[in-house]
Amino acid sequence: MTAQLIDGNALARDIRADVARRAAALSALGHPPGLAVVLVGDDPASQVYVRHKIKDCEDAGVRSVLARYDAGASQAQVIERIQALNADPAIHGILVQLPLPPHIDTHRVLEAISPLKDVDGFHIASAGALMVGRPVFKSCTPYGCMKMLESIGCDPKGKHAVVIGRSNIVGKPMAILLLQANATVTICHSATVDLAWHTRHADIVVAAVGKRNMLTRDMVKPGAVVIDVGMNRDEHGKLCGDVDHAAVREVAGWITPVPGGVGPMTRAMLLTNTIEAAERSAR
Ligand code: NAP
Repeated sequence: MTAQLIDGNALARDIRADVARRAAALSALGHPPGLAVVLVGDDPASQVYVRHKIKDCEDAGVRSVLARYDAGASQAQVIERIQALNADPAIHGILVQLPLPPHIDTHRVLEAISPLKDVDGFHIASAGALMVGRPVFKSCTPYGCMKMLESIGCDPKGKHAVVIGRSNIVGKPMAILLLQANATVTICHSATVDLAWHTRHADIVVAAVGKRNMLTRDMVKPGAVVIDVGMNRDEHGKLCGDVDHAAVREVAGWITPVPGGVGPMTRAMLLTNTIEAAERSAR
């Protein structure tokens, strides 16, 4: 069996087109949607991500504001700016690009964002709301993965899903979304004994670790859906995921590519969260 590819680029394009339609409708009513991006320091990868997010906004007709600080900016300065953005009625979503420089307490900064504008879904209030089944904003990456499952008609109900990774931004919210979609969910992590035993019993595997080739062919049940969240570099510097893609593709039923899978969906779901925030505030 050769797995079918879940095309994140194509799906993200459709989602961005939907956001653009909704942004135009809001703007026509005098409520143009706005996203603020807070960037501290000069981490090269962060600069690229922020450029992409701003370009996505431009393309979709969402106004964006870049609040940029040098690496020496103080925590108080950043929080003060976030508070001003919280109070700005033209801004509906605020995201702080991570990582922040080490002298800044990431937790304190994320908690300064109004939960009503927390389009990344990283605030404790967003995590808590998701946990009790009343999400305001779903974290963009897990949200995008759920959309990918939906796009192939994969209903998690009754399925066994294995999520590898338990971070607050990917693994945990992913597991909760799958659970709420009535999957039976196993969360694996670095202390899991016999990871392959778990993954071999999974109908859906989500790999969110950050280690190249950590999910190999022998770890996957024939026909399983494999979602590769990982972002790594191979020996030639080329972007790759956590899954040994070429080999796993031979046994899986569906698989996401890297690049062109979860990455573009994460960006698209940020736009979706922003437009949802703007629509709520216009009601
Ligand atoms: P993270 O915070 O470093 O978490 C990694 C998780 O993997 C941890 O829970 C860790 O377990 C687990 N882990 C490490 N080694 C393992 C092993 N050998 N077996 C099983 N589990 C293991 O990373 P993250 O922020 O969740 O991101 C994960 C990956 O997704 C990264 O490559 C990141 O770049 C990528 N990512 C991609 C997107 C996208 O849009 N495509 C978005 C976000 C993240 P412990 O908890 O026990 O340490």
